[in-house]
Amino acid sequence: MNRRTFLKNAGIAGGLMAMPSLWSCNASGEKFDFPLTDLHVHLTRDFTIDHLMELSEKRGVRFGVVEHPADWAIKDDADLKAYINKLRQYPVYVGLQPMTPNWTKRFSPDLLKSLDYILMDPQTIPLGRGRFQRIYELSCYVEDTDEFMRRYMDYTISVLENEPLNIFGWPLFLPVCIARDYYKLWTQERMQKIISAAKASNIAIEINDMSHTPHKEFILMCKEQGLKFTFGSDSRNMNAGRLAYCKRVANECGLAKEDFYVPGKGDVVV
Ligand SMILES: [Zn+2]
Repeated sequence: MNRRTFLKNAGIAGGLMAMPSLWSCNASGEKFDFPLTDLHVHLTRDFTIDHLMELSEKRGVRFGVVEHPADWAIKDDADLKAYINKLRQYPVYVGLQPMTPNWTKRFSPDLLKSLDYILMDPQTIPLGRGRFQRIYELSCYVEDTDEFMRRYMDYTISVLENEPLNIFGWPLFLPVCIARDYYKLWTQERMQKIISAAKASNIAIEINDMSHTPHKEFILMCKEQGLKFTFGSDSRNMNAGRLAYCKRVANECGLAKEDFYVPGKGDVVV
């Protein structure tokens, strides 16, 4: 399937078209009320765009690819242009996943605006003097849980308020050492703060297939307040598009097509 056919199927080129079968029914015949889209996939030397296209066909899933702006990945306009031009030859959404604040300085605004979306998570918490706490690492050390939660919440809210995002990734994820207290730590008050900040900036909430976050209660609170959702596997391998947790919890929460964010032209505002 080439990009033009794909866009047509996906209803982008053709405007309001009927829901394509690609989205509502996967290869094993399961049926869903929502589009099967995985907007959080990374490519590597071993996991190429051709692998991803195979999976798209096999699993009936549409993909969005993201890459990190960083010295070791996409460091400037030339890199970003090459990345976009390469992916535009394929039927995928093209996104960027910054990890820390001040990343936009590397690029010209017009080039950033040609992306389909920006996804960011609050997992790399600045500690000052160029140091960071990476909460996704197994070794992430939390000495004082209350102090950590205060800092994590502050950073989360500052990401939601200040970064030019379309999708909030890895919502409610906790470092492994305190993850057993998930339901105690994610109080109504904390969850509502995140929802209010995301809503104020029109940011969609990722349902993350790797961490199985966020949980049903949070998704239902978001839904009630009109927020949109995306599915994200954060995979760099053949797990892309499996989406087992995403599909299950979306079904349990009664999510439908209109509850999902679909990237579109002009969504990136920098
Ligand atoms: Zn990622």
